[in-house]
Amino acid sequence: MRGQIPLGPLLDQLLSRLGLANAVAEQKAVMLWPQIIGPLNARHCWAERVRDKVLFVTAGSHAWAQELSMLKAQMLERLNAALGKPVIRDIHFRAGRKRPPTTASPVAPQPLPVSAAERAQATALAAQIPHPELRPHLERAVLHWQRARHWWQAQGWRRCIGCGDLHRRRERFCFDCQAQSRRRGRRKETIER
Ligand SMILES: [Zn+2]
Repeated sequence: MRGQIPLGPLLDQLLSRLGLANAVAEQKAVMLWPQIIGPLNARHCWAERVRDKVLFVTAGSHAWAQELSMLKAQMLERLNAALGKPVIRDIHFRAGRKRPPTTASPVAPQPLPVSAAERAQATALAAQIPHPELRPHLERAVLHWQRARHWWQAQGWRRCIGCGDLHRRRERFCFDCQAQSRRRGRRKETIER
């Protein structure tokens, strides 16, 4: 969000080019959570993380966890609508204590190095936009996300061998690619039968 400059859709494209679409969407889901459930509920439950498209939420008590899980379908719909695509497929509630927030930003406080090749990639990507006045903004955004990618990789995220997006599963494929190949496998079985 940079003032009036509509970089949103452009950044989405860019994030998938950089392999960060999943990581950023998950981060957004956690950040949007208080907005989705409203300030009153937000005082009693906290989105912790996303794994395999499941959002994990901790509630202050079993009663709150139970209460909120009854509104799950509604929350899922609102969350995915706010994210603009089906990023989250389920929400798991558990009772527990609020943990101190990890890092507020996906990028480490000290600037992570960006290689010459990455700088060149940032310039090349920015050069593709027809608006010269937007190019420096985009170039900065790309450099930012390249640093974020280093950070995510340092946290154990790895590249999906199917789509190139970062994920943090033990498998070589991200959740989406694996689900897709499973569906394809099923279709094949049906045809062969
Ligand atoms: Zn994938």
